[in-house]
Amino acid sequence: MPVNADGDAVDAPEEIDGPALPVNETFYSLQGEGRLAGTPSVFVRTSGCNLRCWFCDSYHTSWEPTHAWMGVDRIVEEVLAHERADHVVLTGGEPLVHEASVTLLESLADHGYHTTVETNGTIYRDAPVDLASVSPKLASSTPTPERDPTGDGEWADRHERRRIDVDALASLVDQYDHQLKFVVTGPEDVAEIEELLARVRAAATAPVPDETVLLMPEGQTRDALDETREVVAELALERGYGYTPRLHVDLWNDAPGT
Ligand code: SF4
Repeated sequence: MPVNADGDAVDAPEEIDGPALPVNETFYSLQGEGRLAGTPSVFVRTSGCNLRCWFCDSYHTSWEPTHAWMGVDRIVEEVLAHERADHVVLTGGEPLVHEASVTLLESLADHGYHTTVETNGTIYRDAPVDLASVSPKLASSTPTPERDPTGDGEWADRHERRRIDVDALASLVDQYDHQLKFVVTGPEDVAEIEELLARVRAAATAPVPDETVLLMPEGQTRDALDETREVVAELALERGYGYTPRLHVDLWNDAPGT
């Protein structure tokens, strides 16, 4: 397992020398979300998460984690093999549960890559990050018994307790060029977004302008997005926030490795 039953990182197996990460997949694709949407990028998807959103679109990194342990040097070799890419997206799961993510980011920076870290914003680590793509999880993400994909809501309390850490969010905002990306299921999410933004703005030193706040429709398939896309776009317009598509779903629906 990449994390223990509490969602905390575990050590790599002894047979791997040096820093290593549990890697679910690496692949070359277009960044699908956020202000770099459309940018050819190599994705490194670590396994293991400290949360359990019911709608998780990387189920095999959270609810049922699958992975191979890879030394950081080997991961960098895989990235280098994609010669056309100069952007790398470190995603998960929650990549920042793993201390070795810092080593990977340092090595990628040494090789001159632009790095985006996609994080749920509950953990801060000091690392060379060009864009922190922070996606705080709203109450609508909680795996209540009715929405739990695997059980009867066993993770609901833990998820609810952990999903927001204002100090970690403020550190991410203060230290990194950032975007705050909210998965929106409907208009009922907006009040919580605004309340959270007020708390983060009060805790952070750096400004958090509305244009760095991106609303993203919930939906892992084209059919699901058809139901949320327009509503969320209207909400973004009304409130002066940005809107981010889910380009990879529009292009490839729910195919893995995209
Ligand atoms: S934080 Fe991200 S990876 Fe973790 S369960 Fe939620 S959607 Fe999945």
